[in-house]
Amino acid sequence: MKIQLLGTAAAEGYPAVFCKCDSCNRARELGGKDIRTRTSAIIDDFLKIDFPPDTFHHVLTHNLDLGSIEHLLFTHTHHDHFHPEDIRMRTPIFAHAIQYPLNIYGNDVVMAKCQNVLAASKESFKLHRIQPFEKVQIGDYQVTPLPADHNPMETCLLFYIEKGNKRLLYGHDTGWFPEPTWSFLEDKQLDIAILDCTNGLIQGRRNHMDIDAVKEIKAIFTDKSIINPTSKVIATHFSHNINLSHQALQNLLEPAGIEVSYDGMIIEI
Ligand SMILES: [Zn+2]
Ligand SMILES: [Zn+2]
Ligand SMILES: [Zn+2]
Repeated sequence: MKIQLLGTAAAEGYPAVFCKCDSCNRARELGGKDIRTRTSAIIDDFLKIDFPPDTFHHVLTHNLDLGSIEHLLFTHTHHDHFHPEDIRMRTPIFAHAIQYPLNIYGNDVVMAKCQNVLAASKESFKLHRIQPFEKVQIGDYQVTPLPADHNPMETCLLFYIEKGNKRLLYGHDTGWFPEPTWSFLEDKQLDIAILDCTNGLIQGRRNHMDIDAVKEIKAIFTDKSIINPTSKVIATHFSHNINLSHQALQNLLEPAGIEVSYDGMIIEI
C-alpha cells in the first residue's frame, strides 16, 4: 500500500493564508517541509481521501492524474477537507476523456452538501452514504468508518482501511478516540497510524489532539499489540498556532518513534 500525504496543515494552512505571526513568517523563510497545505491523501493512486481547497495546487505540485481517480472518501465537511465546488469541474463540460461517475463516500452531511452543489450534473457522480462500523468495499479496499471526537454537529469519521494483509488507520480530524472506536481497534493490528496533532505543545485533546495525546495513543497501541515495532505512527494536521518548525516537531516526536508528516510524503507499507 502506498500512501501519499498531499497536505499536512490545519484549516488555515501553515503559513496561514493571511497571518503575519512569527510562526508563519518563519515557515515562509524556511520553505520546504515547513510549507503545509490543507489535508488530503491518496492511497495507491486509486482512493483519494478528502478534497480540500488546495486540491488544484496538489495536482500541479505532485503531477497527480486526478482524472483517473474514481473513488473519493470524506472524513467530514470542514472547509479544509471538503470543497465540493471544485468537484463540479469533474463534469463533461469541464473534464473530457475520463470515466464517469466519480464515487463519493461520506456521512449524511457530505451527501446533503454534494447533492446540493452537484445537482446540475447528477449523472457524473454516485453518492454513497457511509456510517460508523459499516464496512464498505471500494475496489480491493475494505474501509470501516469509525467515530471521531471532532464536531458534535456532524458524524466525523476516521477510517480503518484494509487491503490484503495491510492495514491503515487514517485518523483525523479527531480528538481523543471515543470509546466505541477504541473497542473496535482493540483486536486490530495496524501497519500504519496517521494521527491528528493539530495542537502541538498546546494542551488539548477534544476536537483535535496535542503531542502528548499522540504519544499516549502510540503507547496504548503498543501495550495492546495494535502496532508492532515495524508499524509506522505519523503525526499530521499541524496548526500555525503551535509555533513549531518541521525540525522542532521532529525533535519532539522522533524520540518517541513518531514520524512528522510533510506535504508530498510517501509512505509504503
Ligand atoms: Zn481539518
Ligand atoms: Zn500564523
Ligand atoms: Zn475538521
